Amino acid sequence: LGSSLANALTKINRASKIDEKTLQILISDIEQALLSADVSTKLVERLKANIREKLRLSELPAGVDVKRVIEKVEITNLLDSKRKAYIPKRGKTNVIMFVGLQGSGKTTTCTKLGYYYRVRGWKVGLVCCDTFRAGAFDQLEQNATKARINFYGDRNEVDPVKIALEGVKRFKEKKFEIIIVDTSGRHKQEESLFEEMEMISHAVVCLVYPLHQKKKKPNDTILVVDSTNGQQLEAQAEAFRKRVDVASVIITKLDGHAKGGGALSAVAVTQAPIIFIGVGEHINELQKFDTQRFVNRILGRGDIATIVEELKEHKLDDQKELMEKIQKGIFTLRMMRDQFQNILKIGSFSSIMQMIPGLNNLPKESEDASQQRLQNFLVLMDSMTAEELDGDIALIETSPSRQRRICRGAGVHVNFIFELIMVYKPFAGFAKNMKNMPFAKNGEMPKN
Ligand code: GDP
Ligand code: MG
Repeated sequence: LGSSLANALTKINRASKIDEKTLQILISDIEQALLSADVSTKLVERLKANIREKLRLSELPAGVDVKRVIEKVEITNLLDSKRKAYIPKRGKTNVIMFVGLQGSGKTTTCTKLGYYYRVRGWKVGLVCCDTFRAGAFDQLEQNATKARINFYGDRNEVDPVKIALEGVKRFKEKKFEIIIVDTSGRHKQEESLFEEMEMISHAVVCLVYPLHQKKKKPNDTILVVDSTNGQQLEAQAEAFRKRVDVASVIITKLDGHAKGGGALSAVAVTQAPIIFIGVGEHINELQKFDTQRFVNRILGRGDIATIVEELKEHKLDDQKELMEKIQKGIFTLRMMRDQFQNILKIGSFSSIMQMIPGLNNLPKESEDASQQRLQNFLVLMDSMTAEELDGDIALIETSPSRQRRICRGAGVHVNFIFELIMVYKPFAGFAKNMKNMPFAKNGEMPKN
């Protein structure tokens, strides 16, 4: 990735140069976005220095994507940890230990991960070593039962190390492939917590590798961090890194308002890859980590820009014409229809629906429901006249008779036209904003 900044920049149209002042604005723009996303100040300074170093003004070509390229390459680089995520081996014992502060979402995420593997055909066992929190065992028992995952715990045992030993031993004897060890947390990074964590870790290792004592850690040690902890995450991650070998990171509660910048710092500290993100309290609300989406989220980029980008990345059509129009401030219903048709080709509707303003607040729905919704929009637009597709939305918005005609033609309830208008408007607004953006002067796009 390192050289891709240079590559990308050379691809950008060379029509005119960016001056010092523009660059300054650009960098402080990025700085603002990062800080408000809870990226630590230390890290922001480092990023800024990197950007400065990479962009020698004399060589800097102008283009609408310069900003995006900088953000993308630099921040993506940061998330690109040196370390590869652990991949469990089929037919073997894979012990995965969870660590993290109390309330970060360990227990919840243990079950989610267990479920993730179980539905993919692995033999999964959960071990509850949290003897600190009252009711911890009941919580795990409930979660595990719901997820139909085997679990081990002991209400009467006070020593978490003993539970870890016994649980892992039992599951190993029965040839379980994924053994997840849930540990306790404390409110703070207390010494007692870390000692306990180390002891569990060592205990587990003795069981798993009786003949290979050189190994000092479970197969995977996952640090769970709560994205809402923001700026504190850097110190938190550092404290854990010092005591256990944090091999991967899971960020939880990204369904809330936190943008997750603090987690970025956590990754920079541990150099461990983010493997999953938690996006809700339910068992299936665990998503594979996607660097690009995360970067977009951190930078608070308009979700529509993400969609356009995603479409571009899939190279479905020649999007040049589309981009040119958008940069002139034009975005018609017809253009939206074409894009929706593309989305249908890409698949993964629900994730794209999540990005569309107005739709992303609706309760989460299944792929089928999202696809259905998109198809409803498409039939609606198919039953419009050319005038309606290419003209101002007011034409439809102010005419109940047109609304009725369109919906009748599409065979859908009249409510759908309002939903369509609600979805369309932010797109049109986005295009209008693009027109006013400083880098879009000549309407030129990078040539790929
Ligand atoms: P632990 O102390 O680290 O084991 O944390 P828990 O697993 O008990 O979780 C603490 C709280 O956070 C619980 O109420 C969970 O339901 C909630 N939680 C965990 N992960 C997520 C998530 O991804 N999204 C949301 N909204 N809540 C979560
Ligand atoms: Mg817990």
